[in-house]
Amino acid sequence: MGCEIIKINDTTWRMEDGMVRFFLLVGTERALLIDSGMMTHDAKDIAESLTDLPVSLLNTHADGDHTGSNAQFAKIYMHPLEEPVYRAKGGAGEIVPVREGDVIDLGGRPLRIFDLPGHTPGSIAILDENARVLIGGDTIQDGRIFMFGSHRNMWDYNCSMKRLKEHVGDFDEVWPSHSSIPVKPELIDQLIDGSEAILSGNAPFTEEEMRGNRIRVYNMGYATFLCDPE
Ligand SMILES: [Zn+2]
Repeated sequence: MGCEIIKINDTTWRMEDGMVRFFLLVGTERALLIDSGMMTHDAKDIAESLTDLPVSLLNTHADGDHTGSNAQFAKIYMHPLEEPVYRAKGGAGEIVPVREGDVIDLGGRPLRIFDLPGHTPGSIAILDENARVLIGGDTIQDGRIFMFGSHRNMWDYNCSMKRLKEHVGDFDEVWPSHSSIPVKPELIDQLIDGSEAILSGNAPFTEEEMRGNRIRVYNMGYATFLCDPE
């Protein structure tokens, strides 16, 4: 089963790969894949079928559902704090580090990086400045936000969202990797409230078994946080 290719406009596509999506953004000089799928292992070929410009790859983070086609690339933009987990899973390629404040210009299309640690230490969001769209990875979404297991940190998550809120005037939409697309920037306020309620111990939860872990499920209505038991 291949992934579904959806054209958003003449220079922007989203690829729906089962439970996850990834994006292709094209400028006047080059193109950038943002993540490379889960079941998909030929994201570079897909991108090259859509543009004649050279295609690079950036990962919002290194979880396996975002790196399916990474082996097709010799160099990968990634936050350096993702590298240990990426290598531990056998991830290949040279890491080109990207961090808060960096701008990747595709040619008339500057993309600004925000650090959003929490879901993973090196999770980032990408602001497509001209389009006023924020591509937020797994951090900002109305589905299930995985916050259990190693490398997750709810304090960091809460701080990241508060810092991001200072830039909320720079974008009109957020495009997540999972669940609904787009979501409104106002979701950030709700996720701040939700993560604060969880941290303060004031949020109701149920317990479930997932992937051999006992987890707490905080269904907030606007999103669901999956967390470790205390
Ligand atoms: Zn994911």
